[in-house]
Amino acid sequence: MSIISINPANGQQIKEYATLNDEQVAAKIEQGHQAWLSWRKTGHDLRRALLYELAGVLRERKQQLAELMANEMGKPVIQGAAEVEKCAVCCEYYAQFAETHLADKLLSSGASKSYASYQPLGIVLAVMPWNFPLWQVFRFLAPALAAGNCGVLKHASNVPGCALAIEEMVVAAGFPANVFQTLLISSSMVEKVIENPRIIAVTLTGSTAAGISVARKAGEMLKKTVLELGGSDAYVVLADADLELAAQTCVNSRLINSGQSCIASKRFIVEEPVLEKFTQLVLEKMKAKRLGDPLDPATEIGPQARADLRDELHDQVRRSVEKGAVCILGGEIPPGNNAFYPATILTNVNSDVPSYHEELFGPVASIIAAKDEEDAIRIANDSVFGLGSAVFTQDLAKGERIAATELQAGSSYVNERVQSDPRLPFGGVKTSGYGRELGEFGIREFVNIKTVYIR
Ligand code: NAP
Repeated sequence: MSIISINPANGQQIKEYATLNDEQVAAKIEQGHQAWLSWRKTGHDLRRALLYELAGVLRERKQQLAELMANEMGKPVIQGAAEVEKCAVCCEYYAQFAETHLADKLLSSGASKSYASYQPLGIVLAVMPWNFPLWQVFRFLAPALAAGNCGVLKHASNVPGCALAIEEMVVAAGFPANVFQTLLISSSMVEKVIENPRIIAVTLTGSTAAGISVARKAGEMLKKTVLELGGSDAYVVLADADLELAAQTCVNSRLINSGQSCIASKRFIVEEPVLEKFTQLVLEKMKAKRLGDPLDPATEIGPQARADLRDELHDQVRRSVEKGAVCILGGEIPPGNNAFYPATILTNVNSDVPSYHEELFGPVASIIAAKDEEDAIRIANDSVFGLGSAVFTQDLAKGERIAATELQAGSSYVNERVQSDPRLPFGGVKTSGYGRELGEFGIREFVNIKTVYIR
């Protein structure tokens, strides 16, 4: 068995990697367990120092990592460099704050002393997607190592080079051998890994279908899961919004990573009085974005990560148009052996149209008209997903009320695009998953919250 990486900008094979067999996987997990027996006893001072080193290694290799991502999954290099920087910041965040987030919490009871202590658990399996090949891994890895856990990574099959580069950087930063290892395996081997008694928990970022499959197996084995799954984020644009800001933010969010972001704005829900003006602004801004070679620093939209994913996206656009959506920009597959797809806008989207309900994982915006604020909130929540959401209004009190109490999502932003930030919890509700990554909440997902009681 092998894993083959293909450059989506030209369809050419980059490299073929041999996959591990079951025995090799079991041996690596055993090595990870042996590493954990020592790693769990290290203190915050050592972990802090190594996380700062890892941030340094990331920054030293920024350009080469950005090029690796561009070649393996088509991310424009400027965005790739920003992703590497974000990983470094995440390492620094946990270097700085892990000790505080995991400090014993004194609790009063009948004891002379009682408290909650946050103890490491063991090896966590991370199943990760290709869209942010470094960031998705680091937002798991930095808090896991800071908490005294170890990790094994099953990365998406189109980014094996990124997976190996992460393992290599952890070693280069000076972490003990085997605290973090990449397993080059297919998704069909994941069940076996979950069955391994040394694996104590699983975190998966990816599609809802993959999340269900992994959670089912982990449930059978009584292992905790954190799931970061799909999203179809609603951005509600109210009639009193700053339309220029709203349109720019919606477009930037929709096109980040060439449209392949779980927290991209996917449904623009607009109050009718400003629908026409907003649509015009979105059209101008989407048209101005430059599609091209991901290695060119001027490129804003690269190819989609794989040709089959591009074809699926185009099928969603085609089916949406058949059901009454109007395509006012893009919507055509460019010629050539590549995975490019242009910035595309669908208007006249309503509940009969597939793009109203499905996640469109590419540079396609769906514009949906709402009669009024109440109708806009109803439409925003009329989704199986609940990852991020945003509302645009110049009335900040109204915006805060809608964000805090009305939108059904793991995060709601006012006049800003949804972003993951090491300081803030990140995750979803409904079929977008459960559990939280990042911040103090993320680092406590995979620890034994242990009660210590002294009579
Ligand atoms: P995917 O197909 O679900 O793949 C994600 C990972 O899961 C890959 O490593 C994949 O391995 C593995 N996988 C797939 N099916 C599996 C199964 N049945 N059992 C075990 N592992 C399995 O998702 P994707 O296409 O890479 O990413 C796009 C999706 O991820 C979108 O829905 C997006 O919204 C979501 N996402 C969510 C977040 C978030 O934070 N909530 C962030 C990024 C992306 P192979 O590559 O070998 O198949």
